[in-house]
Amino acid sequence: MNITELKGIGAKTAENFNRLSVYTVSDLVGLYPRDYDVYHEPVFVKDISHESEHTEVAVEGQVCKSPDIYGSGRLKILTVTIKDYNGDSIKCSWYNMPFLKNTLRLGARYVFRGRLVNKRGWLLEQPKMYTLAQYKELQGTLQPIYPLTKGLTNNTVTKAVAQALEKYSAGLEKEYIPDYIRKRYSLAEHNFSIVNIHFPKTMEEYVQARHRLAFEEFFLFTLATLSLKSANEHIPNSYVIPESKEKDQFLESLSYSLTNAQLRTVSEVAQDMSGEHLCSRLIQGDVGSGKTVVATIALINTVIAGYQGALMAPTEVLARQHYESFVKGFEKAGLDIRVELLVGSMTAKQKKEAYARIADGTAGIIVGTHALIQEKVEYKELALVITDEQHRFGVNQRRDFSQKGKSPHILVMSATPIPRTLAIILYGDLDISIIDEMPANRLPIKNCVVDESYRPKAYTFIHKQVASGRQCYVICPMVEDSEAVEAENVVDYTAMLKKELPDIRIEYLHGKMRPSLKNEVMERFAAHETDVLVSTTVIEVGVNVPNSTVMMVENSERFGLAQLHQLRGRVGRGEYQSYCIFVTGNKSEKIRKRLEILNKSNDGFKIAEEDLRLRGPGDFFGVRQSGDFDFGIADVFTDAKTLKEASDAAKDMLKKDPELKLENNVYLKQKVAEYTIKCLEKINL
Ligand code: ADP
Ligand code: MG
Repeated sequence: MNITELKGIGAKTAENFNRLSVYTVSDLVGLYPRDYDVYHEPVFVKDISHESEHTEVAVEGQVCKSPDIYGSGRLKILTVTIKDYNGDSIKCSWYNMPFLKNTLRLGARYVFRGRLVNKRGWLLEQPKMYTLAQYKELQGTLQPIYPLTKGLTNNTVTKAVAQALEKYSAGLEKEYIPDYIRKRYSLAEHNFSIVNIHFPKTMEEYVQARHRLAFEEFFLFTLATLSLKSANEHIPNSYVIPESKEKDQFLESLSYSLTNAQLRTVSEVAQDMSGEHLCSRLIQGDVGSGKTVVATIALINTVIAGYQGALMAPTEVLARQHYESFVKGFEKAGLDIRVELLVGSMTAKQKKEAYARIADGTAGIIVGTHALIQEKVEYKELALVITDEQHRFGVNQRRDFSQKGKSPHILVMSATPIPRTLAIILYGDLDISIIDEMPANRLPIKNCVVDESYRPKAYTFIHKQVASGRQCYVICPMVEDSEAVEAENVVDYTAMLKKELPDIRIEYLHGKMRPSLKNEVMERFAAHETDVLVSTTVIEVGVNVPNSTVMMVENSERFGLAQLHQLRGRVGRGEYQSYCIFVTGNKSEKIRKRLEILNKSNDGFKIAEEDLRLRGPGDFFGVRQSGDFDFGIADVFTDAKTLKEASDAAKDMLKKDPELKLENNVYLKQKVAEYTIKCLEKINL
């Protein structure tokens, strides 16, 4: 059922919903709140602290001075001072609502709930007013806050969801997790959980709903992955690939020698590829640990054995970067290996030529984005498939890719620092190698966490670094979950920065730009034709410009620690001392503490674990850690325990009913199939 059938949703609003990938009422119900507004008990003015700055705070008080209106023309600001029971006062202000003057008579008593800011003293911005009775009613409840896009208000989404649930029972269905599992892991019912994830009346209900839905996701995920594994497990090796002397020739041409961890991984991969069974292995290593060279060696061996190898990257920028470094690297090593690039922004003619060289085997190594798995591409003899930054792809894409050939070897590279125990579950269908050692010549990155007043100093610092020949990144604030807004920020920020640093070459990069334009900007930066790159997180993945030494992140509190760690990984990749400046607009103690983790450690695994410890398993609010795995509600870090439980339950279930053939599991089997398809669709977007 299309969302336009809901009352109050016309074509215009539907379009806005579409931008959030919501087309049907069941999509709508699947749009879970990204946060909740909790109506806390009103506080006394004396108890207000920096902790609550920029959050909604309620104060019960009495108007103690007649309202003031100042400003003129379109912007009129009304302020009023209220006193709480203790006689302590606080100011409230409203923009463009002069009519409130009549409500806010001297002596009027309300609960004022607004955003707490510090403007030479505490102030509540745009507070809503409630009578005491009204507020009592709301107190303790959780009001959903939905992901929004331009033109769509939270109120519209809330009403639409309520309607879809009540009138059409959207998203509600037969229970498909068996009772014995629900009992064992104390899981709420599916339908209860769907309703209560949107409109929990108490924190308890919310926690139960969320737990069930997270479990459900992991459960389906594990069932899907495990069926893949059993399909893969005993595939014989159709491409036996020995180690080559050309690989040594390549290693000798490098300006460094491999770390022990790299050597170990290289040999694990070589053993797989020359062994009896197909190689399907995850190479996990922190940012900058040098995964690319391990992949390169496997590719060289493959080509020398007479086959083709492909490397797929999540972005064009990254694909091009790999391509260039292969071409240069092989030239330097004196290896005659033909590398082919295949990305979406190439012209039709270029693509056609590339297809031809791939089909007739002229191309030995093919590097690209998911253009590599389009139907038109035919490989001559594809024996090795490598995906870089794999977490950006789903299980299914991996499978699709490997179906391109006669079951090629599979290598998956990921920098997501997840503890081994979790990796084993999340990559259940793969063997794992871990590169747990950094190249020795690296200077540890110097970090600092600062507030916005530090900006001028940061700019001076950037200026100095540029003057000494280095390059810098500035990552822009994500104000909203909207790409359009994000783009605006980057553009505005760049204009501002150009004024601040007029003699420096600055360019910007964001997700809304045409791919070819993105490439040009990135190439100019890589070639050191620009000094500073202002960007959204599009550069988060894999980009390698070793001359960059400063990473400045605005509004760093809005990112997950894992993501910040990835961003930081863009610097400190060469011989120069590098710096990371985390700017935060939020003074809350908790946020500072989290950022301090980054300040203290450069080790991704430690950071992930420390973050987990600090939040505690019950702390779901705030920034999601790992958008990487693209679970709808579950979070690999926060829900680590649930992940473990769901995976145990899935394994247990498959032991009893390996193909989910029992009558009780028929519906579950269908859900697993649906889940798999949903993942596929997400990827094809
Ligand atoms: P990642 O694991 O994040 O993909 P890369 O493979 O891009 O890291 O490597 C990061 C940088 O480190 C590259 O410039 C690469 O040439 C360099 N590098 C890789 N291995 C070593 C090593 N053993 N010693 C010194 N530098 C290395
Ligand atoms: Mg990489």
